[in-house]
Amino acid sequence: MAGEFDLISTYFSPLAGPEGLGLIDDAACFSTSSSEDIIVTKDMLVEDVHFRGQDLAKMIGYKALAVNISDCIAKGAKPYLYWLGLALPNNTGEDWIREFSAGLNGAQATFDCKLAGGDTTAITGPKVISITLMGKVPKGQMIKRSSAMVGDDVYVTGTLGDAALGLWCLKNDRPQASGLIAAYQKPSPPVAFGQAIRGLANSSADVSDGLIADVGHIAKASGVGAVLHQNYLPVSADAYQLLETHPSLWPKVWTGGDDYQTVFTAPSGLQNEFSRLAEGLETRVSLIGEVTAGQGIQLLDQDGQTVQVTSGGYAHF
Ligand code: ADP
Ligand code: MG
Repeated sequence: MAGEFDLISTYFSPLAGPEGLGLIDDAACFSTSSSEDIIVTKDMLVEDVHFRGQDLAKMIGYKALAVNISDCIAKGAKPYLYWLGLALPNNTGEDWIREFSAGLNGAQATFDCKLAGGDTTAITGPKVISITLMGKVPKGQMIKRSSAMVGDDVYVTGTLGDAALGLWCLKNDRPQASGLIAAYQKPSPPVAFGQAIRGLANSSADVSDGLIADVGHIAKASGVGAVLHQNYLPVSADAYQLLETHPSLWPKVWTGGDDYQTVFTAPSGLQNEFSRLAEGLETRVSLIGEVTAGQGIQLLDQDGQTVQVTSGGYAHF
């Protein structure tokens, strides 16, 4: 079978209206008669694919909303309303649902948005959580994936690889790596920063499938390429500690999924401006590369040699 993105472009893109932006962006966007555009995004979480059956229901609820918020804020939008689709095995206990709703409530408070509806059904399969989130952005100011320019700098917020390394720690019974495990369980997309870079960033996407894959999505949508520098990639102290003893895990920094940070491009010369904005918003921003003519993403090591990227990132097919 064709890959996830080929399937979408073959069978679903032809069905999309102009608001769908060709189904190559993090969200759809449509205008209203007000001064704001509405952006809409949807992400599903499926048991044994996006979370583990034994994960705490509260954590799953928080994460289900946070991963949608991540797409919304990568568009420079402010989260507004969301709809919750739930398919649960009919032996799911009420305790699970109580804890799950508490997790959603926590994320609502963190990201300032409210539930507006949904649908609930019993199934025999694994738990499926589907959230559709609506956000608001000043008219014409959504930061798209398709508007990167050759010569732009590439930046990323936060640190990379923590969540993928956290999942590795959970699977390998290393509960002491609490910072990494927290990154896997509780994504913290840079909520205010996304809105602060409107008007400065040319293009943006959230990092959910892995850095290389998501810069690849920007590059493909914009008809450009990018060069990224391995030694510029932001890595947390917790991640370094693990990577020192397990260097074979390094590729998780650039291909591991679940970061829920924002990667964006902007004209060169804005590094100080972005650092100042990030500092004020208690986030971190790193210049990691540049947009090039051509296509594809190249990762260079500190000697300028190409790092072989074996897996581009997460894809479902
Ligand atoms: P993201 O990771 O940012 O949520 P995806 O990689 O899941 O985005 O999807 C890329 C694009 O394809 C988005 O515009 C999304 O809306 C669209 N898409 C994904 N799956 C489907 C589908 N089953 N039907 C219609 N559009 C889809
Ligand atoms: Mg996205």
